[in-house]
Amino acid sequence: MARQEEIDSVAQIRTLLSTVGLRTTAARLAVIRRLRRATSPLSHAEVAEELVPLGFDKATIFRNLTDLVDAGLVARTELGDHVWRFELRNPDHEAGHHPHFVCVDCGSVTCLHDVDMSKSAQKSWTKVGRVTEILLKGHCNTCAK
Ligand SMILES: [Zn+2]
Ligand SMILES: [Zn+2]
Repeated sequence: MARQEEIDSVAQIRTLLSTVGLRTTAARLAVIRRLRRATSPLSHAEVAEELVPLGFDKATIFRNLTDLVDAGLVARTELGDHVWRFELRNPDHEAGHHPHFVCVDCGSVTCLHDVDMSKSAQKSWTKVGRVTEILLKGHCNTCAK
């Protein structure tokens, strides 16, 4: 069963890459799989930590992350600590993006997929500028204990 899922996901990723005109390479496959398993955005260092032992070098991983950002498959965010974090864009989510919660104590980042940005909210901030990131800060449940 696990094997079948594995095959399906390779086929899925291959299709995803070909729709944006990218070839499926071992490094791209590994990077996308790592991001798929993640529940929050990952830094280059966090992706590298797992993929370097598999034989991919840091520069290759970074280049692939950048290629995927350029192709629109991956979103890159900066949450105030000068670290770029990467996550797969959700194709079902038309806006392509969602707010993030950052814990000011431990620095953990959580995706807030269920927070809806209303049309009127979006309209009101276009008067101010182009919003690239919506950030909520506070104390996560683990730290607040
Ligand atoms: Zn915390
Ligand atoms: Zn996120």
